[in-house]
Amino acid sequence: MFDQSLESSSLQPVPSIGVPALVVSGFLGAGKTTLIRHLLHEAQACGYRMAVVSNEFGELGIDKAIFGQESNAHYVELEGGCVCCQLSNELLTTLHDLWKLHNPDRIIVETSGVALPFETLVTFWREPVVHWVGEALAVVVVNAEQFVEGRDIEGTTEQQISSADLLVVNKIDLVTEKAVRRVESMLADMAPGTPILHSVNGKVDSAILFPPHPDDEGRLNVRKKRDIIPHTHEQFVAEEIIIKSGISKDSLILQLQKLIALRVKGVVRTSEGIWLVQGVGSRIQLVSPPRDLPKNLIGRIVAIRRI
Ligand SMILES: [Zn+2]
Repeated sequence: MFDQSLESSSLQPVPSIGVPALVVSGFLGAGKTTLIRHLLHEAQACGYRMAVVSNEFGELGIDKAIFGQESNAHYVELEGGCVCCQLSNELLTTLHDLWKLHNPDRIIVETSGVALPFETLVTFWREPVVHWVGEALAVVVVNAEQFVEGRDIEGTTEQQISSADLLVVNKIDLVTEKAVRRVESMLADMAPGTPILHSVNGKVDSAILFPPHPDDEGRLNVRKKRDIIPHTHEQFVAEEIIIKSGISKDSLILQLQKLIALRVKGVVRTSEGIWLVQGVGSRIQLVSPPRDLPKNLIGRIVAIRRI
């Protein structure tokens, strides 16, 4: 399968809540690269170490030269095939090497316009990456203008959209408000219940894609200070919600779904044990918590909602 050096021989401690990962897909020209560049700037401003693996071909992908000038993140280009199929083993090896060598706080995989996000996401669930990765999310960037004009929507674009965890409608400044609503209803038909964000020039709040954890409080304060700079983001608020111990898993999930949050993340002691809770829209997942979980995190959930 993969070579022996991939086995967990590394002495690096596994982070307590895992390294969050993002797979960014979307048709050629949707704005994946501008979105990623924006996320890199935000990460740099907040002191996060980012690693990016790009499988986008040609001049639309992040160019190594531009990347070197703009960011201190670690960057690897994978060429010669598609990461969702032919290069899935190479992606696995690359991700594990990046983790061992650079210990990133966040990971982004930029796929080519033809890759399927879910198939790419599966790599994060394979050995040995599965041991250190946190929540992995498939984001699909949609070009509002392309949608309004009805260009290339069937086929790959539709498949990408239907398997996304989160959709970003980019370039909304190039179409009318009415057109944005039409795009939203088309997306809702293709991917019922999937949260939809809007952006201009890929400017999406990082906290939606990499939600803060109660553990991140120090860094959250840094963020708030930086946020005084005016920008064109949609407006969101991050709230901490306290959940009493002993709640059943079902009622916990219901309670979180009722928040209608874009993202939720935290740790809860249910009647069936302690769980790491992570959610995108109405999809709430309960996964096994890390072994060295700090006790002060139990019962705290961060929810991010639109204002
Ligand atoms: Zn593929």
